[in-house]
This record gives sequence, C-alpha cells and structure tokens, in this order.
Amino acid sequence: MLSDLPPDVKAALLQGVNQSAYPKFGKEPLSPPHAALGPQKPQSKGKKTLALDLDETLVHSSFKPPPLPQKADIVLPVEIEGQICKVYVLVRPGTEFFLQRLSKCYELIIYTASLSKYADPLVDILDVRGVIDARLFREHCTSIQGVYVKDMSLLGRPMNDSLIIDNSPTSYTFHPENAIPILSWYDDPKDRCLFELIPLLESLSEVDDVRKYIPMFVTHDNRVDFQRASHVLANAVINTSPLVGQGSETAKEK
Ligand SMILES: [Mg+2]
Repeated sequence: MLSDLPPDVKAALLQGVNQSAYPKFGKEPLSPPHAALGPQKPQSKGKKTLALDLDETLVHSSFKPPPLPQKADIVLPVEIEGQICKVYVLVRPGTEFFLQRLSKCYELIIYTASLSKYADPLVDILDVRGVIDARLFREHCTSIQGVYVKDMSLLGRPMNDSLIIDNSPTSYTFHPENAIPILSWYDDPKDRCLFELIPLLESLSEVDDVRKYIPMFVTHDNRVDFQRASHVLANAVINTSPLVGQGSETAKEK
C-alpha cells in the first residue's frame, strides 16, 4: 500500500526510516516497558484490540463555529500559548452507538495524532458510556519528516488481534494489513460510514488473524469493498467455527 501513496509522502516516509533509528513499526508487538498499553482491563480481557483515529474519523473540529444552521455538538475550551481558545466539534453520526456496540467484542483504544490537551477532554465527553479502554496521543506517534505515523506494534497486543480505523492512510503506512480505511468526515449529517462498518468489524472480531483477511477486501485506493468483505468474512467465520471442525470429524468417521 506504500506504493499507492503520493510520491512526496512516500519519499518522506522512506527517507526518514532507518531500522536501527526506528526499531518500532515491527511486525511483532513490543513488550513492556516499551509497549504503550498496560494489560487489558477485566471487561476487555481476551478481546481483539480496535484502535480508532479521532479527527475526521469520529469527529471534525475547528476553531471556527460551523456555518449556520449547523451547531457544534461540543464546544471545548483548549489552552493554546497561554490563551483559552474555543474548539468547535462536530461528532460523526453513529459515534456513540458504534462505540457502545463495538465495545462488546473489542478492547477500544483512541489512537490520535492530536495533542492530549485537546483530545483527552474531548474523549471524556464522547465516551458517554465509559467504554474506551485507553487513549494514545501525538507522543505515541512517530513523526517522520513531519508526517505522524501510528505504530501498531506499540500497542503491545498480538498483531493478529489488532486493528486500526483511520481516515488517513499515511497513519498506518507500516501496518496496512491491520488497517480498515474510512472516508474522511467533516460535517455530513447523512454519513453512514460508522454504521456500515459495524457488521464487518463484528465478523472480524471472530477470525484467527485479521491480517489474513483485511488485504482481501481493502482496495488499492484505500476503500473497503463491502461486498467482497462480507463474502470473505462469511467464509472465514464458518471456517473458524468449532462446529465446522466437529462436523467434518463426524463426516470423516462416517
Ligand atoms: Mg484522522
């Protein structure tokens, strides 16, 4: 997927990466104390881990109020260079439902390249039901020539059980097989992207290795082919069901 990036972004990323200088971005999870997350909380134990980007994935924020008749869902005071500024936040349709529903089958992490002084209080408000397990901010991203890249190995979770949803493909440049793209969202009240992803993510929560399946339905232009996904995942879930194993044993015995 790196080959699909604009040439200047690709050059910037590759130029900055030197394996010895950047021991991260591994295909294996980092162990404590290098991993960013502690052990899974009791309510999330054994679940796969879903990292969610914030800006243009779950919200859109601006220093200007949205044009009328729209109204900001949240107005957040944030201190910038000693001044308190208002940040006007629109929340993507379905965010609360998405978080609540997916928390049943995933450990949920917010992984944002934004500063924690903005993102942390915003997540406090967004996480109405307290279902987000952890938050990672800009300091958990690696800046490569000014581009913030997210490191899935930093989560410290098994890579076969780790996913990220992000509107920006550069964020997951080094772990595309763990990434579900989503269209950038700014203000469309009719957007259905989060709702559309729910069944796909619920199915993915049951497969043995997400990296085996994601590349089968994410296209080269970073879109989800939903028809292909539902076909691939229906077969994947059938194949990993213990009932299938039992059935085939019985068939063999006969
Ligand atoms: Mg984003």
